[in-house]
Amino acid sequence: MIESADVIVIGSGGLGAATAYYLATRSTRRVAILERLEIGSQTSPRAAGMVSCLRKSDLMISLIKMAATRIKQFSADIGQPLDWVQSGSLKVARRVVDAEVIQDDLLRGRSHGLDVEEISPDAAHRLNPFLQTTGLATVMRIGDDMYFNPAQLAVGFARAAQGNGAVLLPNTAVTRILIADGEVMGVETTRGRIDAPIVVDAAGAWTRQVAEASGIQVPLVTTAQQLFVTEPVPDARAELPMVRIMDAAVYMRPCEGGFLWGVYEESPRFFDMNDFDANFDIKDLPLDAEVLWRYARDVEAQLPVLLKAAVREHRGGLPTMTADGQHIIGPARTIRGFYFASGCNVAGLSIAPALGDVLAAWIVDGVPPIDLAPLSVDRFGAGPWPDDELITKAAWQYRHFYGAR
Ligand SMILES: Cc1cc2nc3c(=O)[nH]c(=O)nc-3n(C[C@H](O)[C@H](O)[C@H](O)COP(=O)(O)OP(=O)(O)OC[C@H]3O[C@@H](n4cnc5c(N)ncnc54)[C@H](O)[C@@H]3O)c2cc1C
Repeated sequence: MIESADVIVIGSGGLGAATAYYLATRSTRRVAILERLEIGSQTSPRAAGMVSCLRKSDLMISLIKMAATRIKQFSADIGQPLDWVQSGSLKVARRVVDAEVIQDDLLRGRSHGLDVEEISPDAAHRLNPFLQTTGLATVMRIGDDMYFNPAQLAVGFARAAQGNGAVLLPNTAVTRILIADGEVMGVETTRGRIDAPIVVDAAGAWTRQVAEASGIQVPLVTTAQQLFVTEPVPDARAELPMVRIMDAAVYMRPCEGGFLWGVYEESPRFFDMNDFDANFDIKDLPLDAEVLWRYARDVEAQLPVLLKAAVREHRGGLPTMTADGQHIIGPARTIRGFYFASGCNVAGLSIAPALGDVLAAWIVDGVPPIDLAPLSVDRFGAGPWPDDELITKAAWQYRHFYGAR
């Protein structure tokens, strides 16, 4: 156990571990990662690991392009394993109204130099024979999209941070942020007090709980997302483009000889993490397979393989959502030295290499390296943010993840 650090990062998921790594490589500050359970063991390893480059805003596209480059260079730059495949993806509109969204996507993508094009349903079927042409209105191919092994990213960043001098403290839960005169003094943990002038709340599903325990408000809510991994399927090659069906919000990508698939369902569940036991582990989260089967039936004409392939793994995690579908990155409004790295909106693992880097630069230099105002908690004003309103908006963002109208 340590008594002090220059920066404490709470949480060793993708966002916390990446931030700690870039802090450790960027400065001589003493960085500590505090993790209530095992390193990188909660939502991050349960993700789909899809890198979706055509985001809804220019800022997010710039950040995800930076992240994709780092994912490809991960092993060379960081010295830790990370398996990835640049398979590209097919974004599919079944309705005319969603085809219009694809036209906007194409313009935005081209303006960022992304490899995007509209292709015919037949061409899409040739690229991925598991996608049938029935009911397809418009298909966009995104050549830049890729996927990676989600279990390797957070652990890789954490180990690399350690290699650069950071201290990893697993099984050490932060119970309170110590604040005096509006300034961070350190944290209290289940293993004692640690003094530090800067604390990063990257506690994933517990971000709000960690902040609120010390009177810091943050407008985000915790939801659940789950997926199936199938048994091997003949001809399910790793290079087949991923498929996203916009209105159903169903996604599918190759995975170890079979497929991995999931859905952003109409009525996501939201959780108050105070209702869980202090030792709760996300591996014990109750899942609901029927949700996935319902949407497999919805897209049966396009992706019949989802109903046919035997399931070998059913997993889920607890991402955080915000009212506008964007992350919360940067300093808290009222407490000096307290930063957020959260509000992942079910897309935080792939972009963690970029967000971790820009947040580390912000902490070290005192100013963000690019304009991150759209991700700042300040954009929500002073609050309060009534939970029912927040949940309604967050549920809409979740269901409309692919931009369907
Ligand atoms: C099924 C599913 C599919 C997904 N697919 C994708 C995808 O394709 N692409 C993508 O980019 N993202 C995807 N995501 C989202 C992605 O998983 C998250 O955005 C990302 O993992 C969030 O990382 P995190 O660091 O915020 O959270 P976590 O990985 O949960 O890390 C937070 C850590 O903080 C720790 N912690 C909490 N409280 C404390 C405390 N008091 N003291 C110390 N430590 C604490 C926790 O134990 C945990 O380890 C998916 C998520 C799910 C569930």
